[in-house]
Amino acid sequence: MMETINSSWSEEKIITYFFNYSYTWSEIKLILYLLDFAQKQKIGYVLYQANAMFPSFSFKEGREIGINLNWHNHSSEVPFTIGHEIGHIMSEYRDTKRLNYCRGVGTQITEEMSADIYSLQLLYKYSSAQEDNFYDPLNFIRAYGVPKRMINETYKLFASEEGFFFKPKDSFDQFIIE
Ligand SMILES: [Zn+2]
Repeated sequence: MMETINSSWSEEKIITYFFNYSYTWSEIKLILYLLDFAQKQKIGYVLYQANAMFPSFSFKEGREIGINLNWHNHSSEVPFTIGHEIGHIMSEYRDTKRLNYCRGVGTQITEEMSADIYSLQLLYKYSSAQEDNFYDPLNFIRAYGVPKRMINETYKLFASEEGFFFKPKDSFDQFIIE
C-alpha cells in the first residue's frame, strides 16, 4: 500500500517523497506552492497513487481535493491537476454534484473548463512571480506540464497579459504535437 500524502505531512516529507519518484526540483517547488495555496484557502488534500484510470476529485462541501499521481501516467501534469481541483472548490458553480470526479477533463463541460482556466491562471501567476519571462506560450506549456487541451486558452492568456504578444495568423492546431 502506497503512502497517501495529506495536509499533515511536513514540507520535508513531501519533498523527499517526490524526489524519490524523480520529480524535478521545479516540479516539487510548484507542488509545494500549490499545496500551500490550498491550505491557505482552507482546502484539505490527499495525493495518492491509484490505477491510472482512477480520476482525481473534488469534494466541495468538505473542501477537500484528491489527486491521483498516476493519472494516465502523466506525472508532469500533476501540478496542473492540483490547480484544476482547487479550481472546482473555488468555483462559483453550485449546481453540479458535490463530489466531482474529473473523468471528463478536456470535454466542453462548463465547470471542467472553468477549473482548467483557474489552474492555468494559477500556474501563470506563479510563473510570473518566478520571473520566468516566457515570451512563447508553448515554452510555458512545456515547462509547467499544462495539458495540450489548454493551448488555445494559454495563447489567449498570453495575449491578454502581455501586450506585445502577437498571435500567429494560422490555426493554433498546427502547434499540437502528439
Ligand atoms: Zn474537473
